[in-house]
Order: sequence, then structure tokens, then C-alpha cells
Amino acid sequence: MAYEGNRSGAPRRRYGRRKVCRFCADKKATIDYKDIRSLRYFISERGKITPRRISGTCSDHQRKLTEAIKRARNIALLPFTASHSLERGSSQR
Ligand SMILES: [Zn+2]
Repeated sequence: MAYEGNRSGAPRRRYGRRKVCRFCADKKATIDYKDIRSLRYFISERGKITPRRISGTCSDHQRKLTEAIKRARNIALLPFTASHSLERGSSQR
């Protein structure tokens, strides 16, 4: 035999980080377009919405989330892009 069958389906899956929707797990967590702090958790540094497969949000909540983010963008709570800095170094208060 030339090959040793060493690929007997060794699973590389690790469940270190649980992939449960954040909003399903936490019933208190609400999706609100005014709640920028939680929305920004789902937005990359460049202002893009984190895809579902990364954030682990279920499709139902991801949909609501996207809507909330878009709404927040429209009223300028969130940036469309990172072309302008968010808090021009004035993060201290
Ligand atoms: Zn969910």
C-alpha cells in the first residue's frame, strides 16, 4: 500500500467559541437602531456589516440587525464607510 489512510475524518472542529446567535442567547438584548454601541459590535472597522457566518447571528436576527444598521446609517449614527474617522480622537470625555 502506497498511502497510509491517515485521513480518517479527523474533525478540526473546535467549539471554543460557541456559535449561537447573540440575540437568541440573550433575551434582553434588543436590536435597536439607536443602540449604536451594540450595533457597532456587528460592524467591521471599515463600517461593513459583519457577515452572519462570522458573527454567528441567526438569519432572523441578522436581518433585523441589517435593517437597524441601515437605519442608523441613514440618520448618520453610523458611518457608511470609514472615510471619515468616527470620533476624531475625542474619545475622552
Ligand atoms: Zn437569533
